[in-house]
Amino acid sequence: MFHERQPATVAHALTVDVEDWFHVCGAEQAAGERSGQGRVLHTTALVLDLLRSCGVRGTFFVLGSVASRYPELAPRIVAAGHELASHGWSHRLVTELSPQEFGDELLQTADLLERQTGQRPWGFRAPRWSLSRQTTPWAFEILAQQGYRYDSSLTPLAMIGDPAGPRLPHRIETAAGTLWEIPPLVTATPLGNLPTGGGWGFRFFPLAMIRHTLQVHQRQGGPGVLFMHPRELDPDGPRLRLGLLREFATYGPQSSAAGRLAALMRSFSFRPLGEQVALWQTAS
Ligand SMILES: [Zn+2]
Repeated sequence: MFHERQPATVAHALTVDVEDWFHVCGAEQAAGERSGQGRVLHTTALVLDLLRSCGVRGTFFVLGSVASRYPELAPRIVAAGHELASHGWSHRLVTELSPQEFGDELLQTADLLERQTGQRPWGFRAPRWSLSRQTTPWAFEILAQQGYRYDSSLTPLAMIGDPAGPRLPHRIETAAGTLWEIPPLVTATPLGNLPTGGGWGFRFFPLAMIRHTLQVHQRQGGPGVLFMHPRELDPDGPRLRLGLLREFATYGPQSSAAGRLAALMRSFSFRPLGEQVALWQTAS
């Protein structure tokens, strides 16, 4: 019953934050980065294989420092037909950066990705959803100034975002122009929004709940934005010691991520966020 593809005008988005196994916010000074034992080329190849097997093109938010260390990575993503977007340079939270530092990171990442692939990113996602209308209101104007057309960082979740924020895509007007904000998928419940679009919630809550949420988004004008990290397809890869709760949120339960993604990618239509934004811009 889930095999029917939706009309081309309604499509969801599969997004990948391309970073290494040790890019977990607050823990990245760990030995991994210093030792240079990265696994991101291997794990990103697993993601590319999975998307190819499902016939889905996604959006890859690439960390500038990772693209710099592995110059072959971004061209591989583009060659496979996916959209390249920016995850900043250093993986520092936007709340820890000055406006100048934020702008410099954005520019450095976009310049590098363009040199490597000929494509300049349209989209941005902040490390750990650390963009906010309350704490970093200046960031949206800087994004628009630099030619970014959308952001996908405002999660309507307690603790890490604004639980009262919109669940659906919306426009943010800045002095430098309009930016589309496309939040990651959450499921609204009487107890609050649940993190079903990615991370531990995607692996933990019933798959039927995630399907239902995608259908609701579709009716309301979607897209539902799923997100993942390449390390999630690498269950035997190295892990950081983060304490019980953060280890669960970061790593567990792992085994179902690839199977669930494949099931959803075969049931629903997906398109890169940049193409979705271009359609909205044409329509408005
Ligand atoms: Zn990240």
